[in-house]
Amino acid sequence: MPRTPFLAGNWKMYTTPEEARDLARALRDGVAGVEGVDVLVCPPFTSLAAVAEELAGTPIALGAQNMYYEDQGAFTGEVSPLMLVALGVSYVLVGHSERRQYFGERAETLNRKVKAALAHDLKPILCVGEKLEEREAGASWKEVVRGQVRAGLEGLGAEDLGPVAIAYEPIWAIGTGKTATPQAAQDAHAMIREALAETFGAATAEKTRILYGGSVKPDNVRELMAEPDIDGALVGGASLKAETFVPIIRFQE
Ligand code: PEP
Repeated sequence: MPRTPFLAGNWKMYTTPEEARDLARALRDGVAGVEGVDVLVCPPFTSLAAVAEELAGTPIALGAQNMYYEDQGAFTGEVSPLMLVALGVSYVLVGHSERRQYFGERAETLNRKVKAALAHDLKPILCVGEKLEEREAGASWKEVVRGQVRAGLEGLGAEDLGPVAIAYEPIWAIGTGKTATPQAAQDAHAMIREALAETFGAATAEKTRILYGGSVKPDNVRELMAEPDIDGALVGGASLKAETFVPIIRFQE
């Protein structure tokens, strides 16, 4: 079964609710009639309700950029899976490199988040990727990425993997304007798929979508998406304007 292309926007810490509403409206109009792709936007928590209203009844799905793994409790400042589901959220990013780098998120926490998402019918997108120093250290970057995949999905079985997607985002390519070449991204994706096959079997690995992230733009999305193991894109900067995100979503036209 071919994997449906998946174009996801990560709005990071941008947009007030009003700005988010405007962007959601522009995207809704811009992608009207597009078929054969899955589209997701991940606004900040504070804009989720406004965007949910604008996207109701459209095929654009709503995601959160993070969440905590407990249902409720004395966890000041955190947001639970129950709260996200109540807002109409269906996806959640887990372990974005900015969460790992600036907020100290570690493998065990991320694994708990993946499991909590699945327990609440939220589809987790597990983000992995190596730092520049790791890439420059040669072959060991591959072990770093494989380790992130294994640790994030630890304790899951093949039967759990249906809702899970992986986003490969080499940290040196995020927000820098430096994209991995399509061939380099393809090689990393193939390696991740192999790691998935080792743990969950080839059939499950073949079904799992692996998104590429790192300075994806309208002018490089086509060549990236042409690679056999690149099933979508997780887009930061270029997802903040309909003028750039809509052509990315419409890359097949
Ligand atoms: C991201 O935030 O996941 C990302 C890939 O950002 P950018 O597209 O801006 O590099």
